[in-house]
Amino acid sequence: MKRLKAITISIGDELLSGKTLDSNNAFISQQLEMIGIPVRKKLIIGDIAQDIKDALDLAFSQADVVTLTGGLGPTHDDITKSVLCEYFDVGLKLYPEILETLKHRFVRRGFKFSESNRSQAEYPENASLLENPFGTAQGMQINYQGKHLFVMAGVPREMEIVTTGQIIPFLTELTQSSIAIIDIHSIGVPESALYELTKPVFNDYSDLKIAYLPKQGMVTIRVSFPSISPDEDQKLKNEIFTRIRDIKPKNIYGRDDELLPVLIGELLQKNNATVATAESCTGGLVASLITDISGSSEYFQTGYVTYANETKMSMLDVQEQTLIEHGAVSENTVSEMLSGTLKNSGADYAVAISGVAGPTGGSEEKPVGTVFIGVAHKEHQNIRRFQFGGNRILNKEMSAYSSLNMLRLLIGETTQ
Ligand code: AMP
Ligand code: MG
Repeated sequence: MKRLKAITISIGDELLSGKTLDSNNAFISQQLEMIGIPVRKKLIIGDIAQDIKDALDLAFSQADVVTLTGGLGPTHDDITKSVLCEYFDVGLKLYPEILETLKHRFVRRGFKFSESNRSQAEYPENASLLENPFGTAQGMQINYQGKHLFVMAGVPREMEIVTTGQIIPFLTELTQSSIAIIDIHSIGVPESALYELTKPVFNDYSDLKIAYLPKQGMVTIRVSFPSISPDEDQKLKNEIFTRIRDIKPKNIYGRDDELLPVLIGELLQKNNATVATAESCTGGLVASLITDISGSSEYFQTGYVTYANETKMSMLDVQEQTLIEHGAVSENTVSEMLSGTLKNSGADYAVAISGVAGPTGGSEEKPVGTVFIGVAHKEHQNIRRFQFGGNRILNKEMSAYSSLNMLRLLIGETTQ
């Protein structure tokens, strides 16, 4: 199935003259955009039969979803319903229960019920009704040659309730079953570089929609395409994911709900292994991310938050000499934090982080955003120096997620 597109039509002489500003088309297109149905054209026409028919011809030839508002009142200038009957070559159907309700309403208010009001209980035979709780003109849905036409009263309040209450839920269901989506997660590659790297692969496919969504210094690539069948969709998703991941397997790590804390948990559990953390500038964020996952007590041993030098020494056996010679933010300190963590916790894997989160505290040698991140298993240590930016919170998040990615890679290397 192809991607849905929409055309919205507003009917009313007063809209053409400028007496009334067309707000209906704007409201509907915002609603449609939100559920991934782009509006290709917006038409404003007068209460003229031929113009309404021409607009429908154009809309049905270019769009899958068509909305029409206005011209549903009981007065002579409101001709939308009779034009629809001519256009689809159908008659009007009377809804007796709507007629009764209308009569009651008039009597209750002390008005005489006139024949022109009777038309509010009549709708084209091929329409199903969309309840309008705020007025007498019901909305209509007409399916025509596989396309979806929605007709509503022009009164903005009535149009809004029918749109949000009935049309959007219907189309949401329709689009969800017609679009397949896969999220591919990456870390450590800037958005622009990721775009350049992945472009050649995506270019091999004809009908993909690609969005690069940066968050917390990482980028998720959202790929969507028109659904074929559940099996075919799955096959295509697997193929695209594998090809994209293989471009940079160290950085492109998972899909959909396979976020780093989830992957870490799966890997550790699979290998019956445990982890402990030693954090300085991240203040416990890594431990927090790991323990966001239900069941993490199976593999998370402990988390040391050693912010002060004294605690790095007392809790992790970091040597005073190391701190004096190299500073707390150094490869040497992180190395000793790793050893101390493994020894004191008894965990199989260790993560250690020490850095300058900023915005103050930087030096020429170690500017704000300098972070040493290490992971370890037995005698083996991997320590890297990262240079993040000037935003404290972002630096903490980037450090934490980068450490989880390094841990992911180390578990992979040490358990093969
Ligand atoms: P109708 O359904 O044509 O009788 O319109 C009922 C009321 O809604 C009138 O006051 C119209 O001016 C107003 N209306 C109709 N279409 C629109 C529109 N596209 N934007 C804003 N108001 C509208
Ligand atoms: Mg009108």
